[in-house]
Amino acid sequence: MPLYVTRASLPPLEEYVREISCMWESHWLTNMGQKHEKLREELECYLGVNRCVLFGNGHSALEATLLAMGLEGEVITTPYTFSSTTHAIVRAGLVPIMCDVKREDGTLDPACIEPLITSRTCAILPVHVYGNVCDVDAIAQIAQRHGLRIVYDAAHAFGVRVNDVPVVTYGDASILSFHATKVFNSVEGGAVCVNNDEALCSKLELLRNFGIVDEDEVAEVGFNAKMSEFHASMGLCNLRHHSHNVELRRSALSRYRDRLCGVRGLRFVSGVDNVCANGFSFTSNAAYCAVAVSEEFGMDRDALRSVLASNGIFARRYFYPCTNDYACYKGMFDPCATPVARQLSKQVLCLPLFAGMTIQEVDYVCDVVLGACDEL
Ligand SMILES: *Cc1c(COP(=O)(O)O)cnc(C)c1O
Repeated sequence: MPLYVTRASLPPLEEYVREISCMWESHWLTNMGQKHEKLREELECYLGVNRCVLFGNGHSALEATLLAMGLEGEVITTPYTFSSTTHAIVRAGLVPIMCDVKREDGTLDPACIEPLITSRTCAILPVHVYGNVCDVDAIAQIAQRHGLRIVYDAAHAFGVRVNDVPVVTYGDASILSFHATKVFNSVEGGAVCVNNDEALCSKLELLRNFGIVDEDEVAEVGFNAKMSEFHASMGLCNLRHHSHNVELRRSALSRYRDRLCGVRGLRFVSGVDNVCANGFSFTSNAAYCAVAVSEEFGMDRDALRSVLASNGIFARRYFYPCTNDYACYKGMFDPCATPVARQLSKQVLCLPLFAGMTIQEVDYVCDVVLGACDEL
């Protein structure tokens, strides 16, 4: 059996069937029905946020947030992320300004932000990459000093808490993704978490449904980014099993750490339990098992990836290339201007990690990794 980087969590089939069966009576399949509202309420409670606005996916949630804030000009962000982060900025008519990241955890390096601020800067868009918590206090101070908005791409950070505060309560808004590959999924889905900004919530609700206010009025040039009742139902089912799933992930991740910590040339970049590069405590969601492979390992990241693949283990290079090195942005950025991000993109490999991954499966991956360097 091949081992992929992740395996989407599914509830028992009967549970999902039970959840959706009422729709064969109501015929209400989408447009903010009963399941949508129930999922929104349950997420607000589970995540500990004031307001959650659900979307059909994380990307449209991010793009809508930038539009809803009415931003103009430059947004300081990270190139060490999934394409969505940078694309959302560009598609919202804004200019991404690439800031370097920290070697330890891949999050935005606060020391690199201020030199990039100009009179055109309107916002900072950091990413809690792998569920690692950004330096939220330092970023808040910089934003306050310069009057900038903060939008967190928290696509990897579902349920993460920092000093016992939900990480999604930082910044002006945080975006979550409920894509099948994420730690919590509704097949496709996403949300914007907002604290005490009803005007922003209303605008997001308009944008996701064509800007329609009521039968008589269309107030915004919106688009269609609604979450259907079937997706919301999957979210409701998966949420019931989420805490247990995180426990399973955490034990698989800790087995990886027991076996691979201290191996020369290997360094864990993700899911460092209860310790943060900044010294504050945080509760990891064990979303990823990201390791950086350096020269001392004896072979480079890509060679290790090939060895794993030939043993049926399909690790992924999250994130290679950096978004400032994409063909579609050719000539717009200098990827060498963010050397730490560039180096991480050449060194990091995400090993298989999912809820229900057995200790035997983790051991098999570790045996292949350890065998790879022994055979040199
Ligand atoms: C998955 C992801 C997104 C986009 O979410 P979708 O739900 O797939 O649209 C955005 N940013 C990051 C960092 C992601 O990993």
